[in-house]
Amino acid sequence: MARALRLAVAGVGNNISGLLQGAYWYRGLQARGETELPGVRQNAIGGVGVGDIDFVCAFDADPRKIGQDLTDAVLAEPNNYPRLDVELPQQGAIVQLGLVNGGEVTVEDVTKALVDSDAEVLLYSLPTGLQWEAEQYAQAALGAGVAFVNCTPEVVARNPEILAAYEKANVPMVGDDLASHMGSSMVHRSLLSLFAERGVTMSSSYQLNFGGNEDFRNLRENGASKQKSKLNALAQKGIALDAVEIIPSAGYISHLKDNKVAVINIEGLGWAGTPVSLDLKLKVQDSSNAAGVIIDLIRVAAAWRRLGEAGFPIAAASCLKSPAVPHDALTTFAIDEALSMLNERVAAAADRS
Ligand code: NAD
Repeated sequence: MARALRLAVAGVGNNISGLLQGAYWYRGLQARGETELPGVRQNAIGGVGVGDIDFVCAFDADPRKIGQDLTDAVLAEPNNYPRLDVELPQQGAIVQLGLVNGGEVTVEDVTKALVDSDAEVLLYSLPTGLQWEAEQYAQAALGAGVAFVNCTPEVVARNPEILAAYEKANVPMVGDDLASHMGSSMVHRSLLSLFAERGVTMSSSYQLNFGGNEDFRNLRENGASKQKSKLNALAQKGIALDAVEIIPSAGYISHLKDNKVAVINIEGLGWAGTPVSLDLKLKVQDSSNAAGVIIDLIRVAAAWRRLGEAGFPIAAASCLKSPAVPHDALTTFAIDEALSMLNERVAAAADRS
């Protein structure tokens, strides 16, 4: 087994609560010798298992989280991911004030904290809509030679200048925006593809999303970048995206807590122009849905860095809504092959050492 992945996080919200609690939940299963891990796409990537994450550095801007050990911070309000039935030790990583537009912390401060903690990957998981912060954290990770993973729809990996700087400095860059595990974008994409495959002409479609966590509260006001990214996720041959309407947060409903409800409708024309109508409701634990792909993105990023590779790893593309290399330029086969090659190269390097 490879050494544990040393992870830094920017934004200690529900995503990180789901990731940290889940990592300990899987560690428990692994300690009992179980090999069938429910809810996992890949048991190991680059030799790193789903429980093999060391949380070494954390940044936030909320006084309720700053100064707390990361374990206490992920359980602090307004986070409302459920408390999993697992023991959580203190992490020894104290949440620090991070980069805030107009604030005192500098890019150099964050770079130093990343270097001092010996982090391999910085997971960027701030509220959607903060383009300045996304670029500044990416700058800080670049300075530290730490791989960057962008969970949000802000344009980072898709910015050719940022990507080129990462390539030049020999640092991995993974983004943009998570394509959640069983997310509304992936379900919607598959259904649109099914209509096209069966020769039913899609005439209109919509996707409405509701939830009761901070992400949904924020997306009501700041959903523009998310809306574009969700459309990117649906892009495929034969689909007329101008007939598709997406509302990232059609409502913040507090009693839903960290559950997300998505309603998807597709109207189509079948034989002789007669109607075909499909309505679907999807309900998921929103931040588990995020953690289920974050775990793959951070392991791909760490493996890419350990191999001495730079820039965007194709192996990450199926976990992203808006990858640096667009979906329509990639096949599922190419992505799967990239992941197998990455695993083989890490295994060969381990054999040699
Ligand atoms: P959240 O609102 O629970 O957490 C965001 C955290 O960032 C909070 O702790 C907040 O205090 C902190 N923060 C705000 N400004 C900061 C700053 N300048 N520096 C450091 N920290 C700061 O959000 P979440 O549910 O954890 O989601 C994080 C991101 O992931 C969002 O942008 C969301 O849209 C995106 N995302 C989530 C999913 C999913 O399935 N849940 C899917 C795709 C993308």
